[in-house]
Amino acid sequence: MNLAMICDMVADGMGDRVLLGGRSGGLTGGRLRARATAGAAFVASAGADRLVYLGGNGPAFPVALFAAALAGVPFLPLNYRLSAEQLGDVMSRQKSPLVVTDTPERVPGARTVGLEEFCALPAAQAAPRSAYDIDAEEIAVLLMTSGTTAAPKSAVLRHRHLVSYLFGSVEFGSADETDATLVSVPPYHIAAVANALSNLYSGRRVVYLDHFTAADWLDTVEREHVTHAMVVPTMLVRIVAELKARGRRTPAHLRSLSYGGAKVSGEVIAEALRLFPDTGFVNAYGLTETASSIAVLGPEDHREALASPDPAVRARLGSVGRALPSVEIEVHDPEGRPCPPGVVGDIVVRGDQVAGEYVESGSRVREDGWFPTRDRGHLDSDGFLFVQGRADDTIIRGGENIAPAEIEDVLARHEAVLECAVAGVPDLEWGQRIAAFVVPRPGRRPEPEELREWVRERLRSAKTPDDVVILEELPTTPTGKILRRELVDMVSTARRDAARR
Ligand code: ATP
Repeated sequence: MNLAMICDMVADGMGDRVLLGGRSGGLTGGRLRARATAGAAFVASAGADRLVYLGGNGPAFPVALFAAALAGVPFLPLNYRLSAEQLGDVMSRQKSPLVVTDTPERVPGARTVGLEEFCALPAAQAAPRSAYDIDAEEIAVLLMTSGTTAAPKSAVLRHRHLVSYLFGSVEFGSADETDATLVSVPPYHIAAVANALSNLYSGRRVVYLDHFTAADWLDTVEREHVTHAMVVPTMLVRIVAELKARGRRTPAHLRSLSYGGAKVSGEVIAEALRLFPDTGFVNAYGLTETASSIAVLGPEDHREALASPDPAVRARLGSVGRALPSVEIEVHDPEGRPCPPGVVGDIVVRGDQVAGEYVESGSRVREDGWFPTRDRGHLDSDGFLFVQGRADDTIIRGGENIAPAEIEDVLARHEAVLECAVAGVPDLEWGQRIAAFVVPRPGRRPEPEELREWVRERLRSAKTPDDVVILEELPTTPTGKILRRELVDMVSTARRDAARR
């Protein structure tokens, strides 16, 4: 099975159903295949060995994704926010790329085609390669990791990984004809690829919001009668704030809201659940290297946790749920042995959708089939997974390992705290100091000492932030990941300046 066959299935099974774009004038499954076939013929006539996508999110994205599949070449969506130098570096590593972009000046020397032009190419009789000749082992998609903890790498996803993800998470044609998904995640992220595939495969119309603001998001949900949506945590925090400002709840037709990509505090979720009483919440945990979600906390889990008097069940609001049936997840100690429930260790995963391979450094999958996610966390006795965060973010203060998430969870419970992040800052005496960065709720201005005391009372002195910095907003990637390196630089620079004075 490969993505070219998936495109055929969508067109054959849902040829007349509008699957892409607004309620009026969207693209049907049949027209999607026709456009992707024309795009594939264009890729072949250009002699391209890669289809690069450099643009915002919109219907051109799935057209290009399927065009690459039908042409049998890898699809490489790039971050349009990359600097000229970073972009030049990535492009210099491509042999013969065709770039779909409205900013050709950003990729000098490359063969380019505009987004609209690519979707309106003259019809082609057939795709350049038969879908039956494309091997499931061929590369379908290349994705650059966002580089929050290390230099960006190109993750390799083969057809079989994406097809496994798809078969493991959605049923073909299962959506109602009136269902619509609002996609507001950037196109260069695994969530965009996974969303495009799973929505089209289930037969759900996809509506795009290219530049996210909470107000536009809520307006689009109403205007387009959106039934499903996926957001990253920073978006969810802003949507909740906007809803409260409007003094409204979300419309009942929004049946499902998925969030993921980074940690969200249980407090934010509990608040969101109250403002979205008719919506089923889904927390999805996954990595680029695992072709999207591997664990999910579903709507029932959310409701049960919120209503439970049992603190262990209630705590599950802060978990990422259980492993999908298609994958296995374990938590290992440093010797590679499974940890007992409740004990924190390294999260590892295995299954057909787990790729774990990079262009630069080959496969990181261990010989026993387990892929180390580089996340730390624990499982509870019912198999719910709690993700603490990246192993690389662990703070080592005076020889003691401290997970930023533990302190963040406590700070997030303070009524004056809207968002927060904790990071280790280099320190001569302790090796690292603990710095907490806090965005207060509107109209609040908590004293740093009050927040330190709040943590000291609930954890221990060794886990009390040495510094508390009040900020207007946290630096994040567009996919909601906190840029801890920027926070650490901010404190280091401030301390250097203070020492000079
Ligand atoms: P790098 O930092 O190595 O460049 P990246 O940030 O691009 O990689 P992604 O594959 O986009 O990597 O993100 C995967 C990571 O995001 C996970 O390893 C985990 O830390 C975090 N993550 C994803 N979903 C969730 C979730 N639902 N809850 C908590 N954390 C999550």
